[in-house]
Amino acid sequence: MTSPTHAPLPLALIVDDDATFRMLSRMSLEQEDLRVEEAESGQAAIDFATTTMPDIVILDLQMPGMDGFAVCQRIRQLPRGEFVPILIMTGSDDVDSIAQAYQMGATDFIVKPCHGLILSQRVRYMLRASHNLSALRSSESRLAQAQRIAQLGGWEWDLVQNRMDLSEAAGRILGIAPGSFDHTQAAYLARVHDGDRDVVAEAMREAVTDGTGLDLDHRMVPQDGKERIVHLLGELVTDESTNSRCMMGTVQDVTDKRDAEAKIYLLANYDSQTHLPNRSLFLHRVAQAIACGTGSSTTDALLVLSLDRYHRICDMYGSRSGDQIIKEVTERLRQALSVGMTIAQYSGTDSPILARLSDSQFMLYLTNLSTPQDSARVAQNFLDSLGHPFHIGTTSLTLSANIGIAISGTDGTEAELLLRNAGTALQAAKNKGHNCYQYFSDAMNVSITARVNLEQDLRAAIANNQFVLHYQPQVDTLSEKVIGFEALIRWQHPTRGLISPAEFIPVAEEEELIVQMSEWVITSVTQQQRIWHKSGLAPTAVSINLSGLHFRQRNVADQIKALVYAEGGTPQDIELELTESILMTDASTTAATLKGLKESGFRVAIDDFGTGYSSLAYLQRFPIDTLKIDRAFVKDLQLGKSDSPIMRAIIGMGRALNLHIVAEGVETRDQLAFLRMQGCAAYQGYLFSKPVPANQLQHLLRDRLSEEASNMTDRLRNRLAS
Ligand code: C2E
Ligand code: CA
Ligand code: CA
Repeated sequence: MTSPTHAPLPLALIVDDDATFRMLSRMSLEQEDLRVEEAESGQAAIDFATTTMPDIVILDLQMPGMDGFAVCQRIRQLPRGEFVPILIMTGSDDVDSIAQAYQMGATDFIVKPCHGLILSQRVRYMLRASHNLSALRSSESRLAQAQRIAQLGGWEWDLVQNRMDLSEAAGRILGIAPGSFDHTQAAYLARVHDGDRDVVAEAMREAVTDGTGLDLDHRMVPQDGKERIVHLLGELVTDESTNSRCMMGTVQDVTDKRDAEAKIYLLANYDSQTHLPNRSLFLHRVAQAIACGTGSSTTDALLVLSLDRYHRICDMYGSRSGDQIIKEVTERLRQALSVGMTIAQYSGTDSPILARLSDSQFMLYLTNLSTPQDSARVAQNFLDSLGHPFHIGTTSLTLSANIGIAISGTDGTEAELLLRNAGTALQAAKNKGHNCYQYFSDAMNVSITARVNLEQDLRAAIANNQFVLHYQPQVDTLSEKVIGFEALIRWQHPTRGLISPAEFIPVAEEEELIVQMSEWVITSVTQQQRIWHKSGLAPTAVSINLSGLHFRQRNVADQIKALVYAEGGTPQDIELELTESILMTDASTTAATLKGLKESGFRVAIDDFGTGYSSLAYLQRFPIDTLKIDRAFVKDLQLGKSDSPIMRAIIGMGRALNLHIVAEGVETRDQLAFLRMQGCAAYQGYLFSKPVPANQLQHLLRDRLSEEASNMTDRLRNRLAS
């Protein structure tokens, strides 16, 4: 059992100028467990109630000075005095006074003199009634507060009388001023938004005739004119005995809730930048379209378009320019579609679904085509529409793209699968070159799976540091001494073993992982140089291959320099190898970037020279130190067949331009002899050494170390002799 709580005893105030009466009343009330206070005049009663409001007042009417009427009225005006029960004591013949006392706010009356037991019972009853009333008041006020917070109001519609009543809160929510409502259904409907009125009237009619409930949202135009959305709920109540039928219900202002829901829906289903549907909404709509089109003789096609170079553009020109380009691309795609539709270049009739798949990818679903080939026309329209230059400030840029196409039914009957197959076709289109489209075929899946696996493994390899560097010596053709190394990356794959860069570098470039990888190479090379230096060797030059994507990063010179300095290295000991094609893209920025690299102290080499289309004379405009002649030319060299005009020309011109020349891929002594004869300064190749891990270079380095030591001894001896 729970112990009773000790609430203070109720307090009664007896107001009477007659001391005997006060004392008798006190005795009977105290017997009933009440606390009692006395006031001998009206003023004393008011003074007391001002500081302590009693739970009940027993009040005599006839008193000198302030009489009972005045006291009653004053108490009602005091704080917390509004609801205190007031019991009037009056003579039996004084009926007029009783009426007046009620007017002044009395709760009940009793004729005096009265028996003490009657008084106490009456008081007890009044206290209980007052307690119940106050509980009811507080529950009503809590309900009203809850309804205010929930913006909820109640209404009742008497169907027999056709009379509608609104609670105060409902009137407020519906924006109906009190007194302006004529209690008819028509008056309610008059406030409903024009566009919703018929629906609401019909729903009400149906709810009444079918006996079902009302449950709908509709717009309201309140008298202040600001449109709101309300949720209307109603239930039919029939009472056979009184033959009454009415509908009772609530109305709730859900404007803010619906606004928030609309925002959430937009965020969840649309791309915020282009306002196109996103992947999930697209797939949902495609699934619907597939379901509707099942069994029809027409064709549906899903296209995925991918823009090239988008991330590179964002890196170079900033993300705001990237946004601008995406908006313009969206606009052009929309236009290409609408032109296609109006001039009937393809036969689709339903509106196509254009959506955004990722930063640089869009999707399109075409329905009701008469042949699958019609989708190729749309694809070509898209590619053409992106063919004109885009403008970023004063710079004009051309964008290229690729498109993969999957045909509904043949290439999948589910939205997800169609999208995946269109993505596979897209990869195949990319492999063909820029601005191509490609239909899906089953055979693609095999090679694409391999490629996707490679890409995933590569991401893991970066995270798990699975790369190693091999170093290939660069050798002086005359003395056959090592003058430096080229660092070549390898991937130590957990199951496939050592993987050649030729296999993974192109993927790393496409997936834009190459910069991270390249930064790792630079750091590792610098650390290795420090190790060599600490073991007593003179600074060892190392060449590093730089990818085009990395070279085009903003502030690339500062970035690389920072990496080298961070490891305590010097840019002067590093040569950066760039292919002709990297140098030839966007010649004006190339010159500026090369200048930055040179000013930072790096040496610069042209790699694979001869395989591009550039001429040496053209490249002369750039500050270049070294020319690496591609292996393809070296391969053709045979001493017997002495005339190799191209080699002769390259070496001759390189020397004239004062460039350091390195021949790549030297495998035979004959090749070396030819290079010596032509005056080519250095070579790299299996003849001297394959690329090997740094720890296998020790014998070479040891030779160099002893040689450096003997050179130093010679110099010392000479100095001492002089
Ligand atoms: P590359 O820069 O032209 O490197 C020379 C390639 O020729 C190397 O292939 C090397 O092992 C190979 N090679 C050297 N001497 C001979 C020879 O006498 N005969 C033959 N047949 N081949 C020889 P590797 O290591 O497979 O690298 C292939 C390409 O991958 C490199 O061509 C380079 O373009 C790229 N690469 C390698 N490491 C990196 C790197 O760290 N970053 C970047 N961006 N690319 C790299
Ligand atoms: Ca190279
Ligand atoms: Ca090369």
